This record gives sequence, C-alpha cells and structure tokens, in this order.
Amino acid sequence: MKRIGVLALQGAVREHLQTIEACGAKAVPVKKPAELLDLDALVLPGGESTTMRRLIDRYRFMDPLRDFAETGKPMFGTCAGLILLAGEVAGYEEPHLGVMDVKVERNSFGRQIDSFEADLEIKGLDAPFNAVFIRAPHIISAGPDTEVLCEYDGKIVMARNAQFLGCSFHPELTLDHRITDYFINMISVEHQSITI
Ligand code: GLN
Repeated sequence: MKRIGVLALQGAVREHLQTIEACGAKAVPVKKPAELLDLDALVLPGGESTTMRRLIDRYRFMDPLRDFAETGKPMFGTCAGLILLAGEVAGYEEPHLGVMDVKVERNSFGRQIDSFEADLEIKGLDAPFNAVFIRAPHIISAGPDTEVLCEYDGKIVMARNAQFLGCSFHPELTLDHRITDYFINMISVEHQSITI
C-alpha cells in the first residue's frame, strides 16, 4: 500500500489524512523528521505559512524536507503548503523550501472575500471541481517546466512542476477526491507528463 505523509505541525491535517485513506492509501501524520523516511509522497497542508515555517524551524524539519524533495518523491502543497513549496514568495527575500518553480503571492483574493467556493475547470478533469478558497494565495508566474492546471479569475490556482503539485485551494475539504487521487497516482509516474 502506498504511504502518504501529511506534515502535521499545523493546519488542515486531519482532513488530508481522511481524504488519503478514502483514496485507498495509507495516511501517515508526520510530526518528526524521521517519519519522512519511509513515505512514498508527502502533503504540505493549508494553514498559516508563517506559523508553519516557525514550527518547521523549531522541529528542525527544513533540511529533511529539502532532502525529501531531492528524492524525486511527489510533494503536494495546498494553500499555505503551496507557499512553503514555492521558489519565490512576493514581498519576501527568501522562500521557504523553495523547491517548486513558481512565484506566489499570499492572500490574493481580497480581504472582503477571505473565503469562497468556486467551480473550477481543471486540466485533465472531465467535470468541474468545487473548490474551497480560504485566504488563498495564487501563482503569479510559473517557470518553463511548470504546467498550469487551472486558472480562476485570471489567476493561476493550480500547477505542477516535475514531482511538485500545488494548489491555492483546499481539495481536502470536499468529498470530491479526484485531486488527491491524481496526486497519489504521481507516485509511479512522477516524471511523466500530466494525464488525470
Ligand atoms: N493565507 C495563508 C498563508 O499565507 C494561507 C491560507 C490557507 O492555507 N488556507 O499562509
């Protein structure tokens, strides 16, 4: 059985664990760096990226997470998790992990609409995906090897760059598991082009 870790320092951990199990894989909450070692893939959940970063530093997760990225195993960042993966964060001198070739901006959808739902057309999915956005970031620009999978309101909200998948919204908060399923399928095809 495929073992998918969820970084369990802060944020929407339980919902990702439940979604992974619903997709038929083993979900593993990751609270210590050593728990990264026997995983096939890792989810960085949504939450609050500066808080998560503080906890990453406090529990000495940064180098182990970058080592994990170097193995080529898939990593999926949702919302704050996308901010953690990004190579550049607008307005900040340094990225967090900095492994995914995208530049992101935090809190992109306006203060008055901190949370909303939208039906998204996602490349490779045959029907719209109802997505929950909560103080969501968006991808301002993507490198040449990054495939844009979805735009909403003229903004990139989902993309894939090699083994890294990122989205602005929270796929784990709905009962539609197609995106998590897609991520789990990246385990065996991580360097191939996209087909959902
Ligand atoms: N606004 C949050 C941040 O910048 C992300 C919000 C989320 O993950 N739902 O970290």
